[in-house]
Amino acid sequence: MKQYQYTAQDIKGHQTADDIKLYINGEFAEANDGETFENINPFTNEVINRVASGKEADIQNAVAAAREAFVSGPWGSMKLAERMAYINRIADVIDEEIEEIAVLEALDTGLPICQTKKMTARAAENFRFYARMVQTKLHGEAYPVDGEFLNYTVYQPLGVVGLITPWNAPFMLETWKVAPALATGNTVVLKPAELSPLTANKLARVIHKAGLPKGVFNIVHGFGETAGASLVAHPDVEAVSFTGETTTGSIIIKNAADTLKKTSMELGGKSPLIVFDDADVERALDAAVWGIFSFNGERCTANSRVFLHKAIKDDFIQALKERVNNIVIGDPMDASTQLGPLIGREHYEKVASYIKLAQEEGCEVVQGELPVNCQSGYFIPPTLLLNANNNMRIAQEEIFGPVMTVIEFETEEEVIELANDIKYGLAGYVWTNDIKKGHRVAQAVDAGMLWVNAQNVRDLRIPFGGTKASGIGREGGHYAIFEFYTEPKVIHVSISDHHIPQFGKKQS
Ligand code: NAD
Repeated sequence: MKQYQYTAQDIKGHQTADDIKLYINGEFAEANDGETFENINPFTNEVINRVASGKEADIQNAVAAAREAFVSGPWGSMKLAERMAYINRIADVIDEEIEEIAVLEALDTGLPICQTKKMTARAAENFRFYARMVQTKLHGEAYPVDGEFLNYTVYQPLGVVGLITPWNAPFMLETWKVAPALATGNTVVLKPAELSPLTANKLARVIHKAGLPKGVFNIVHGFGETAGASLVAHPDVEAVSFTGETTTGSIIIKNAADTLKKTSMELGGKSPLIVFDDADVERALDAAVWGIFSFNGERCTANSRVFLHKAIKDDFIQALKERVNNIVIGDPMDASTQLGPLIGREHYEKVASYIKLAQEEGCEVVQGELPVNCQSGYFIPPTLLLNANNNMRIAQEEIFGPVMTVIEFETEEEVIELANDIKYGLAGYVWTNDIKKGHRVAQAVDAGMLWVNAQNVRDLRIPFGGTKASGIGREGGHYAIFEFYTEPKVIHVSISDHHIPQFGKKQS
């Protein structure tokens, strides 16, 4: 494996931090109108590079290439083992380049390098997992009918699928969609987030190196309202898989309705973490702190609402304050950094406005100290919003930063009601040593994914996604391949001279 020793400065000289082009029909290309936009380093606030700004004409080209590759190219008719060899080859190239990918991700997003290393390392497994899944599990069913028919199903790819991804864990989330989409035989146009294009560009290079046939995978960089909206509106795009904000999800569903597209929505969250008085408090504390302050708090499943039982609240808060003071804030490229800067100015202003609002709403605000080398970046120190209640806006709205809202409760019924009194339903965490209560509460909380006595640990086989305003549909496991990236087709075969009504036939 190559070893990269990049700093934020010298990465500029590297190929993948050169100006970024679109990747269409197996070639890197400027946008049709030649426009570009700046990509900013959230730690130094300096320009890393410029990015081709794709728009409708570029989406047209990318979709045409993907359609051609689906209809006439070798991808659809390729033997399964051959297609899966390509998918596994992508995983191998990711492994070869993983050190560089982790560096690019930290540089582009402000996520600490020790965390991007772990996160990007999982990307190769996304491809290997779906190669295995498609080879062993993607098969239909047979329905024998009274010796007259055999009806069977086949699961077929949709055609061109549009993938739209956010900036908070770019490489991980892109590969999480690209892997099942390609493994099932679709062709892809990816519109990555405009705020974090470096590793999306790297993915294009990885796939190029893996030698996929031209047009099978395409990337159009650009903004949501132009490139993203054109992808959603395109009549030859059969489906759109989206991860991002709830409000954007609503817009995409509305726009996709015109062409009757299938959509998958992975949206925002405001997930509760509930600590009962009988919990292993030290472990609950570790999980609560990690769950909101790792990934700079920019994690969809973050435990941004923490409900503490009255009996343990004071001690727990005291421990939280100590933890918040000790979290290492700094340069994302430094291996010891635990919390880096937020993605950019606009997001920083949004998070800062919620902290101001918390003060206005009557919360006690406790924050860690920013070191002196963090003045130019978009840093929000780890923040506790204490004495909150569930009706406050800071308890109801997704802040998406290192900000924990802390709320007291007394009874199981009360905390279930509070946990569910919100529009979101992505994840939830229950801490108790009473096994019955753990199951009861987990089953009662309205969310797609619950963890009992654990932090958010991943299992690629599970249905990943949320309820209520947190999403529609599930990714992960066989859900992605059966419920989204393929269509079941049923074939009815008569195996007898079964009766056919003789409609309009003259009787002899
Ligand atoms: P966002 O909705 O602002 O943007 C996401 C993507 O959508 C970007 O690529 C953007 O360019 C594109 N987009 C914006 N407007 C569009 C439009 N009109 N048509 C088509 N595309 C459009 O989200 P974000 O700020 O990048 O990401 C953070 C959000 O993502 C948070 O709400 C977070 O909870 C959510 N998220 C959810 C999950 C999940 O699995 N549920 C995972 C990660 C992030």
